[in-house]
Amino acid sequence: MKTFHYYEPSALEEALDILHQYGARAKVLAGGTDLVVQMKQGKIKPEAIINLTKLQELNFMAIDSAVRIGPLTPLSRIAANPFFSGRLALISEAALAVGDVQIRNSATLGGNIANASPSADMPPALLALGAQVRLRKKGGARVVSLEELCLGPFSTSMEKDEIIVEISISPIPEGSGAYVWMPKRTAVDETLVGVGTWLQGDAQGETCSQAVLALNSVAPVPFRAREAEAFLQGKNLSRENFRIAGEIAAEEASPRSRADYRKTLVSVLMEEALERALRRAQ
Ligand SMILES: Cc1cc2nc3c(=O)[nH]c(=O)nc-3n(C[C@H](O)[C@H](O)[C@H](O)COP(=O)(O)OP(=O)(O)OC[C@H]3O[C@@H](n4cnc5c(N)ncnc54)[C@H](O)[C@@H]3O)c2cc1C
Repeated sequence: MKTFHYYEPSALEEALDILHQYGARAKVLAGGTDLVVQMKQGKIKPEAIINLTKLQELNFMAIDSAVRIGPLTPLSRIAANPFFSGRLALISEAALAVGDVQIRNSATLGGNIANASPSADMPPALLALGAQVRLRKKGGARVVSLEELCLGPFSTSMEKDEIIVEISISPIPEGSGAYVWMPKRTAVDETLVGVGTWLQGDAQGETCSQAVLALNSVAPVPFRAREAEAFLQGKNLSRENFRIAGEIAAEEASPRSRADYRKTLVSVLMEEALERALRRAQ
């Protein structure tokens, strides 16, 4: 591994100053489960590492009518939060899909998003809930939707001196959701296909007033299957319509490898995720 300057700032402003100084030549470090692997493999050779883990103000969960999560929050804490059960269980389901318990104890939400792997598990659940990401840099702040943040494989719209400081779902929408993924053979396997769904029914719970359907691992970025969403709008919340929505979503997918297999998985998992979301609404 190439040598690098190492910083361990104790305040966010200090971290932003250092990042501003180095720009793209620095990398921020959270749990290190992606970054350290990439450095060991020689895929990236940063001149400086800015370890964020002392910044406890970035490690929080605040939940009321909205959900706000700090980027340094470990996925194991998110998975264990009882609030992420019932209609919001898709958040803990996505967190539990990541690696094994040791990985989840280190892996953070911010790192899962910023690493921008097409197979990352948290983005489909967060996209289904319309999550927003708050970014800070020296002298500036902005909020972008998670969808706007994801540009391509391992590429985001973050500027070289920006840090994620909060992930929010505000307000928490009406409805219920589910995250369903193809089980992995080992904890180091990537997710082959993951589906995040959010379903809102009418007052009688018979007709779909809105569906948000998000997928990973079947396109360069996690994305919303908008044609399948449009199909469900105004339709009966029936298994048959969920099956058709799954087939439409499979056509929207563009997997790079094992395309037929992954598309079949999209159909099957989408139907299952919609069924599960509906059961949680009842
Ligand atoms: C054995 C193994 C199994 C895994 N299995 C899965 C899996 O099943 N599903 C899955 O989704 N992932 C999996 N991962 C990947 C990884 O654990 C997750 O992506 C994790 O959430 C990354 O978080 P981290 O805190 O470790 O990030 P780090 O490795 O510290 O950082 C990752 C990237 O994000 C950037 N970054 C981190 N925090 C911020 C921030 N606040 N602002 C801006 N940029 C930031 C870093 O600079 C770096 O580029 C696995 C990894 C391993 C090693």
